[in-house]
Amino acid sequence: MYHKYFVWNIDDGLEQDKKIIKILKKYNMGATFNLNSGLYGEKTMIGRIGNLGMSEVPIEKFKKSGFHLLPYAEHFRIPEDEVVKVYGGFEIASHSLEHKNMKQCDEAELRRQILDDVKNLNEKFHQKTIGFVYPYGAVNEACIPLFKEAGIEYARVVGSDTSFRFPSDPYQLPLTCWHIKKNALDLIDQFIAATPTDDDMFFLMFAHGYEFDFGTKESNWVKLEKICQKVSSAGDIICCSTRDAFEAHRRNQK
Ligand SMILES: [Zn+2]
Repeated sequence: MYHKYFVWNIDDGLEQDKKIIKILKKYNMGATFNLNSGLYGEKTMIGRIGNLGMSEVPIEKFKKSGFHLLPYAEHFRIPEDEVVKVYGGFEIASHSLEHKNMKQCDEAELRRQILDDVKNLNEKFHQKTIGFVYPYGAVNEACIPLFKEAGIEYARVVGSDTSFRFPSDPYQLPLTCWHIKKNALDLIDQFIAATPTDDDMFFLMFAHGYEFDFGTKESNWVKLEKICQKVSSAGDIICCSTRDAFEAHRRNQK
C-alpha cells in the first residue's frame, strides 16, 4: 500500500511565518522551515514585480529613500531569542549560515556556510538537521561531501517536477510547485485525484512568508488557506515535514 505526502517548504525564517504557523496548525499540517542561523533578526524590504520578490533593500536604506518605484513587502527575520518558541514542533532545515550563493563560495566558505549552520541549528533546536536548501537555487556539487559530513540527507534545488514522485537523488530535490504559480490549485487537484499504484507520491509546496503579504491575485493569504483546506480535507494525504515524508517513504520501501 502506497501513500501520498504533502509538505510545505518555507524559506528564510520570516515574521510572516508566525501567521503561516497559525494557519498550518488550524489545518493540522506539517512543514519544513529553512533558516539561516547567521541572519536572525535581519530586516530588509523586498520589491515586487508581478508575483515575484525581486530587489532586496536593507531597512535603513529603504527608510532613507522617500520614493519607491516598486511595491514592497517586509522581509524581517525572526530574532534569535524567539525562534525556538515560534518553530517548536516543525522541522528546521539549513538554508546556509548567511544565505550565500554556494556557487560563489570557496571550500573554506562552503564549510562555514554548511557545517556552522547545521551545528548552530542542531544546538538551538535540539534536533538533527538533515535538510538543506540552496540559497537562490545555486547548486554546487562541491557541497555534497560537506552535506555528508554534516549529516545532511537531502538538498532542495530550484527546478520543479510535477511527476509527484520522490526524487531518485535526494541531493537534487526539486519543488513540485511554488504557491504563487497560477496552476498551484490545479496541481493540488491532480494530486488529490491521483492514486499511488506503484510507489508513494510526494508534493512539495514552496513559499516565502513575505509573498503572502503581496496581496496579488496569485499570492495572498486567502490562497494559502485555500491550499491548506483542500489538501487537509482530501482524507488520504499525509501532511508532514519533508524529513517525515522521506523517512516514511524509506520505511515503506522495505
Ligand atoms: Zn532564501
